Amino acid sequence: MARYTGPVCKLCRREGTKLFLKGDRCTSGKCALDRRATAPGQHGAANKKQREYGMHLREKQKTKRYYGVLEGQFKSYFAEADRVEGMTGENLIKLIERRLDNVVYRMGMAESRKEARQLVLHEHFSLNGKKVNIPSIIVSAGDVVAVMENFRSSAKCKDLAEKLATKNAPKWLDVDKTNLSAKVVALPARDDVDFEINDQLIVEFYSK
Ligand code: SF4
Repeated sequence: MARYTGPVCKLCRREGTKLFLKGDRCTSGKCALDRRATAPGQHGAANKKQREYGMHLREKQKTKRYYGVLEGQFKSYFAEADRVEGMTGENLIKLIERRLDNVVYRMGMAESRKEARQLVLHEHFSLNGKKVNIPSIIVSAGDVVAVMENFRSSAKCKDLAEKLATKNAPKWLDVDKTNLSAKVVALPARDDVDFEINDQLIVEFYSK
């Protein structure tokens, strides 16, 4: 399964915004973007004028990287968002929010989406009682995501569960912090996404 394996802080510096790809480090004084807020590369500090195409491209790249999705998959999410009723940009964000790895991250059982993806790949979560290992599964209202029984006793799970107690999940997830599970009580709304994304720019990028 293809995935980005390069240095992730560079991605934040390229997009000029925190993408929160490294868990706790992102909110600590060790964040690379806080220490060096220029784009990577020899000419990263140059004050480049962004053209219209560049603005559209950067918004698409930023969103893709925030969710840890590669181009092909992002494009197919866009096609699906365009096919269903409603605003394509909104549909796109709402659809990606429903990925299983994002649900594990949003419920608070992973420090980053990358970690959530790893945990799912290692079969540490179940969906509606069945073991799963596909991070891109799209959840539906009524679905229940839970930590697998055999993972609960591990030091890693105990550490995550401790942190879970201090976290708040979005309102579309009903998290049971004792049982380490989350029920999708509603589909996510556009304003449930607390990260700044101009989805219209993404629509314009793919409409060219
Ligand atoms: Fe981005 Fe986090 Fe790295 Fe900061 S620490 S640059 S927010 S990935």
